[in-house]
Amino acid sequence: MDRQMIIAASLEELGAARLLLDGIVGFVPTMGYLHEGHISLARRAREECQSVVASIFVNPTQFGPAEDLSKYPRDLKRDLSLLESAGVDLVWTPDNETMYPPGFSTWVEVEGLTKPLEGASRPGHFRGVTTVVTKLFNAVQPQRAYFGQKDAQQAAVIRKMTRDLNFPIEIVVCPTVREADGLAMSSRNSYLSPEERKAATILFRALTAAKSAYERGERDAEELRKIMKETLASEPRAQMQYVSCADYDTLDELETVTGKSLLSMAVFLGKTRLIDNFVLE
Ligand code: AMP
Repeated sequence: MDRQMIIAASLEELGAARLLLDGIVGFVPTMGYLHEGHISLARRAREECQSVVASIFVNPTQFGPAEDLSKYPRDLKRDLSLLESAGVDLVWTPDNETMYPPGFSTWVEVEGLTKPLEGASRPGHFRGVTTVVTKLFNAVQPQRAYFGQKDAQQAAVIRKMTRDLNFPIEIVVCPTVREADGLAMSSRNSYLSPEERKAATILFRALTAAKSAYERGERDAEELRKIMKETLASEPRAQMQYVSCADYDTLDELETVTGKSLLSMAVFLGKTRLIDNFVLE
């Protein structure tokens, strides 16, 4: 049976359309310029839920003053067509006024987990993320919400916020979708020049080198960080911002890998900042 996807712009339109959705509602929040990574979340939600809602909102409060907000790529028409093909029932495309009405002054902040890694490199980023996700959750009222492992720390922070604030929402984290050469899909890959695009596989290669060492029995976390750093240093176009081998849940840097852990990194290729990670089980 063909269903027409509903597109809601205002909060009122969203509320009216939400009332018509049946059963378990799965929610996929995005900033648009969609790729196969985003679509994999929508498909998973489609498989697991009676109704699927997606949102497209480029959230200004998670960008730093020197970051790429104004040039963040957008293509709403294409995004809507991709979401419709993935079987999404309802798309919400709120504007800045709706999400941040004049005089806005209420924030949601997760302590601790937001300090290292992305939090250290991008002050205020996670406060913007947790605030907007709270607002999206409140408006959409999903029972499940789908996030990508690509943004591992974001997923950990959202899980923590959901537990701490007793949101009645199950957080589902889905695997990172990659290009054929290993580069993790990202809207920001569109900024890369052809030379930078080729060089960008260095993140995947560095993670793979560390994971192979782990699989051969290496458990010294400093050694794994060193392998990632050395691999990144072999690519002249890549500027490392951080590499990490941390506890999967707390994100504390490890001395020895014992339980579930996260290898992660942030790397500049020219002006474009890319992140990627592998989980060690
Ligand atoms: P964004 O539009 O960048 O805010 O991403 C929206 C959602 O898609 C987030 O939960 C991301 O973690 C997820 N996502 C982005 N890239 C990928 C990818 N390559 N594979 C899986 N999920 C992804």
